[in-house]
Amino acid sequence: MRILVLEDEQQLARHIVSALTRHGHVATAEHDGNAGVRRALTDRPDLIVLDLNLPGLDGFGVLAQVRAGGGAARVLMLTARGEVEHRVAGLRAGADDYLAKPFAMDELLARIEALGRRGTAPTAEDLLAVADLRVDAHRRTVARGGVPIELSPREFDLLLVLMQEPGRVFSRGEICERVWHREHEYHTRTVEIFIGRLRKKIDASGPVLIHTVRSVGYTLRAPSRP
Ligand code: CA
Repeated sequence: MRILVLEDEQQLARHIVSALTRHGHVATAEHDGNAGVRRALTDRPDLIVLDLNLPGLDGFGVLAQVRAGGGAARVLMLTARGEVEHRVAGLRAGADDYLAKPFAMDELLARIEALGRRGTAPTAEDLLAVADLRVDAHRRTVARGGVPIELSPREFDLLLVLMQEPGRVFSRGEICERVWHREHEYHTRTVEIFIGRLRKKIDASGPVLIHTVRSVGYTLRAPSRP
């Protein structure tokens, strides 16, 4: 993958770039938020490792500007340990994953590998439909009632899990496993935030498809006919 590392601690940035390079990625670093946005919109990397606390423009600002500029890179946000509100805010702002500092380089590499993985399992049919919602698992496009919907890579992965078995109820734990591939410290809050984001985009323009099954989990199904 082509990866942009936005980290103002230059020694850490160098370590990350060299670890990524050793693992076959093409990585570059920027140390300032504004320079990072320019680089992200010129180079169009596949993934951005984004430190939250950056000079010039912080990680939230970078994320907003990159998304506003049409940048579709997956974003792994780096936060200081224990900044729970920051993690939640980062996910709300469109980050796909987060990692608290200090972290082990192996953990960073594992997260990046998981983010680079496409989809969750091979599907017999790439074209999925529930009611007027259409998903092309190959092109990774989504439309409802013929209107295209922009999803972040993680939002898409989550939708794909729900779409592959309409009507089946998925527990939050199972969603964590399928979408994030590992159980580690992901908790129900992360799933709730992503479900909330999906709902805003998918269910804004038609009958509700994503349902909460109280104390069990979530399901996606067509509205029942009267
Ligand atoms: Ca920093």
